[in-house]
Amino acid sequence: MDKALICPRSIGQIMGELVDITCPSCFERFPVAAPAESETPCSVDYDCEVCCRPMMISFWYEDGDVLGSADGLED
Ligand SMILES: [Zn+2]
Repeated sequence: MDKALICPRSIGQIMGELVDITCPSCFERFPVAAPAESETPCSVDYDCEVCCRPMMISFWYEDGDVLGSADGLED
């Protein structure tokens, strides 16, 4: 239980908002830092932090909130 505490808010201010993404392979949820609104909509290659499988995350903004959705990459 000696893990350093990381405040999601402080990360959000540095790297953009965090979005909860559900992995299309293992269905675990984890937060991903979203790109700036000026860079969206966009898609980002990402490896699941739980099962390490690749996915494509699409980010877009809606009414000032960033949203994200992940799709698995087909072989
Ligand atoms: Zn996964």
